[in-house]
Amino acid sequence: MDKLSIVVPCYNEEESIPIFYSAVSKVLAKMSKVVPEYWFINDGSSDHSLNEIKTISESDRNVHYISFSRNFGKEAAIYAGLQSAIGNYVVVMDVDLQDPPSFLPKMYELIKSGKYDSVGCRRIDRTGESKFKSFLSDKFYSIINKISKTQIVAGARDYRMMTRQMVNAVLSMKEYSRFSKGIFSWVGFKTKYIEYHNVERVAGETDWTTWKLFKYAMSGIADFSQAPLNLAMWIGIFSFALSLIGIIFIIIRKIINPFSSVFGWASLVSVILLIGGLQLLCIGIIGRYIGKIYLQVKNRPIYIVKEKK
Ligand code: UDP
Ligand code: MG
Repeated sequence: MDKLSIVVPCYNEEESIPIFYSAVSKVLAKMSKVVPEYWFINDGSSDHSLNEIKTISESDRNVHYISFSRNFGKEAAIYAGLQSAIGNYVVVMDVDLQDPPSFLPKMYELIKSGKYDSVGCRRIDRTGESKFKSFLSDKFYSIINKISKTQIVAGARDYRMMTRQMVNAVLSMKEYSRFSKGIFSWVGFKTKYIEYHNVERVAGETDWTTWKLFKYAMSGIADFSQAPLNLAMWIGIFSFALSLIGIIFIIIRKIINPFSSVFGWASLVSVILLIGGLQLLCIGIIGRYIGKIYLQVKNRPIYIVKEKK
């Protein structure tokens, strides 16, 4: 018998939780070779999510939960769940049923074959999502895959089943700013992706506005690539070279024609503005990384538990 841990981050999901539990337990009941273990992580919900989870855990002793003292974010919730899970296989799932439970037997079969250390799921379309959001996502994947050594599969969800070995590798990454898509790829191992068409949430609403996603993407780039820092350096080198050429040009002109009149102050102002802008941009890029270092060295816990069972 294998123990399969199911890690479920929940933030204001009172409606989805019971639907999720009944859908997943139905699928798991058919998987005769696994004993399930659920870890619901209540990520500081302000609704009755915790009560819903408690009700389920009273009727099923395989259901455990961790409740955070406030909202720490999905990444922290996943980390907490992975830390508590004891299964030899662990699967991370969203509670809104956007990660179809019907894939579980297939994922288990693939991982059991021994050919893969992890089985992930990847959406191949984004029906139901705004065009603008999909456009930004596409751009994000193409940019990060160009500038980072850590390759991130487009459309890959956090829905994945992992072996104990891979879970331990993920847990060994104790960084404060957690970008799971990058972490799952960074640890290596062999991953098989199951492709599927997007499924819309069963209930409730997504908490991810386009702006929030954009910030998350930017943070992910800083977590897994140093290219922006190099960009700052290249901008510096380029404008330095350009100014050298300018200085040489002015000196030569002065020698050839010592009485040339003053002209071009407008272009001068725009160049000053341009350089000033580039400097601020570069400082901003460096600032992003310093901010990450600052948070990391403070060594604050990734989450704080209020209740656990
Ligand atoms: N979630 C969480 N903490 C948060 C935001 C979301 O634990 O601060 C959970 C949420 O309950 C859900 C999962 O993360 O189970 C994915 O969230 P959502 O469906 O809003 O994201 P999407 O599917 O749109 O990427
Ligand atoms: Mg969702």
